[in-house]
Amino acid sequence: MEANTVLIITGNDEDALMIEEPLKTARDGPFITDRVHDLAGALDRLRAGDIDIVLVDLFLKDSEGGATFDALFQLKPSVPIMTLCDEENEAASIEAVQHGAQGYLSKGYFSNTLVPQALRNIIQRKKIEEALYVEKERARVTLESIGDGVLSTDVHCNITYLNPEAERMTGWTRDEARGRPIAEIFRLINGDTRQPARNPVEAVIADKKNLALQARSILVRRDGEEAPIEDSAAPIFDRNGEVTGAVVTFRDVTETQAMARKMAHLAEHDYLTGLPNRLLLNDRLSQAIAYATRHGTKLAVFFLDLDNFKHINDSLGHSVGDELLSGVAKRLTSQVRHSDTVSRLGGDEFVVLVLEDTDVEHFPFTAEKILRALAAPHHLSGNELHVTTSIGISLFPDDGADAETLVKNADIAMYHAKKNGRNNFQFFNNRMNARAVARQTTEIGLRRAIECNEFVLHYQPKVDLESGKVTGAEALIRWQHPQHGIVLPESFIAVAVDSGLIIPIGSIVLRKACEQLKKWQEEGMAPVVVSVNVSALEFRDKRFLENVRRQLQETGVAPHLLQLELTEAALMRNIEASTAILRELKQMGMQIAIDDFGTGYSSLSYLSRLPIDVLKIDQSFVKAITGKSGNGVIVSAVIGMGSSLSQRVIAEGVETKEQLDFLHTHHCDEGQGHLFSAAMPADEFGQFFRTANATGVTGLLQ
Ligand code: C2E
Ligand code: MG
Ligand code: MG
Repeated sequence: MEANTVLIITGNDEDALMIEEPLKTARDGPFITDRVHDLAGALDRLRAGDIDIVLVDLFLKDSEGGATFDALFQLKPSVPIMTLCDEENEAASIEAVQHGAQGYLSKGYFSNTLVPQALRNIIQRKKIEEALYVEKERARVTLESIGDGVLSTDVHCNITYLNPEAERMTGWTRDEARGRPIAEIFRLINGDTRQPARNPVEAVIADKKNLALQARSILVRRDGEEAPIEDSAAPIFDRNGEVTGAVVTFRDVTETQAMARKMAHLAEHDYLTGLPNRLLLNDRLSQAIAYATRHGTKLAVFFLDLDNFKHINDSLGHSVGDELLSGVAKRLTSQVRHSDTVSRLGGDEFVVLVLEDTDVEHFPFTAEKILRALAAPHHLSGNELHVTTSIGISLFPDDGADAETLVKNADIAMYHAKKNGRNNFQFFNNRMNARAVARQTTEIGLRRAIECNEFVLHYQPKVDLESGKVTGAEALIRWQHPQHGIVLPESFIAVAVDSGLIIPIGSIVLRKACEQLKKWQEEGMAPVVVSVNVSALEFRDKRFLENVRRQLQETGVAPHLLQLELTEAALMRNIEASTAILRELKQMGMQIAIDDFGTGYSSLSYLSRLPIDVLKIDQSFVKAITGKSGNGVIVSAVIGMGSSLSQRVIAEGVETKEQLDFLHTHHCDEGQGHLFSAAMPADEFGQFFRTANATGVTGLLQ
């Protein structure tokens, strides 16, 4: 055991010696003693530390009486202090005890051999007291600073303590609340019944067991305000195991509950429009199906898709797009009954679940009404926008027995509404389904075809009508289907465009055409221009230019041998962008042709500004050329236009001698059609090219 250090403070050396004597010779181990003569010295020594107990004569040369004690105590309240006194000044020592001194030692006992033991006891007790103090302080600070409300009561359920959070939540201060019954301070009601709830403290004290509070408890504040809380209560026992009171801890769960509600809402609603999302729609739809089944009522699923929304989003920006969607959501909601569900699936797709008692005839009216409401101009951030919508409708039970099928079939019908010219609605029918299945099969087949290299190019010659020579060929894709043999583009190009597969397919076509050109070149064939069809989707693809450039580079084909055929529609969609792309292509040295010319609605003034080399007159106009005069007007007009813009004109689909003669007479530059040859495999074309250019295709032309 470490020796205790006693600080003796006295101006009287005799007294000091007397006290030191028993301490130094103490039986249970000597004390270390330190001696100072005045208060100033004492305070210095105390500050230096390591003093276990102080013995002080209150009457010193620099301080007297209670003041001496107070100065020491203030400096080190944790060090026990005993005073030294004689009969005359005992009163001062008694006062010191009242101020916190541990006791006093009278002069007659200074040398008593029991003093060391007494001092040891005092030191020990003071240490325990200190530990308790620290413990209590820790508990106090904890209670004052935690975010939970804490209150305690005595065994009679009267309040003994509130922490600051409990004060805030009940509206009572600790002092006001102390001694009052808990029922008055901590008023609880049941959130469902709004009846007073049983106070947890009574139960805890009666049962001597911890208790978690019932769910949905509401605390009524002193001012009547209410807050949902969560809480628990526990009994307090004394050392004999008797309950002396209880502690309740509780917390305000307003925010937690609000957050939980918000999360639940977010999970089932679209963040932008606040409408139910797919999840909630499915739920409602399933409920509606169950109801309709039981009561024999009708329901319809309207699948809506805005026409050209993507274009608005791209050109005016996403914030305008978002505004538009919110506006559409509002209009939709206002057009249907409260009991109907309007939901947004994402993007510009909305689904409305419409309920009817018996009358299916009402559904078309509702659809009309929605179309009209959505077509009215939208005024958004200074823009007046006109959007139309296409709607597909499926009916329960006719078009599906479950939510998923109904939505899928409404989607299919919507697709047909789009095909039908947009801004209209279509009811689902089973033929649509068959077509949808066929499309899907084609799409799956195309993916495999890309992977397994099932595409080949056939080449159809183009003939110069003046010289009769073959000038070039159009590369036309063929799908060598493992089961169906050669499949023509009309059976799969549309699906390829819709599914986006036209982009990889177009790239394959370009590649094959370039490779073939290279091969012919290596075989020493005279130069021939090969044209490749490019769909609008490919043309607008960001990587298009880069892809063309790369293919040319990698195959080493001279760019002027490659011609790209584009339709008017592809070019007119975004004229500025198209012009820029065309310029780049021209700069690379390629030729540009407008395919199916005359079938689009191009503005001639724009057309004249585009860098175009060739106009291909659509077959339908060539077909119209018959013996009767007048039928070839369009053809002759296009020929005239082409020559005035110094573009070459090719007539497509030339099948008869009569057509050829007409074209020749009107100075059409070139022709392409079955009269010369259908499209054929590359080898055959090579042969055709050599013989034709040696002898002339063109016995025909005489
Ligand atoms: P297009 O570009 O107008 O091609 C001309 C089409 O007319 C070809 O049909 C050709 O075989 C056919 N044709 C040629 N001469 C005659 C004739 O005298 N009489 C008749 N009745 N038809 C004739 P094909 O090969 O079936 O291609 C159809 C369409 O598919 C093409 O029309 C083109 O728009 C598209 N296409 C073909 N290959 C590709 C391709 O590689 N990429 C893209 N994007 N589209 C392609
Ligand atoms: Mg073409
Ligand atoms: Mg054409």
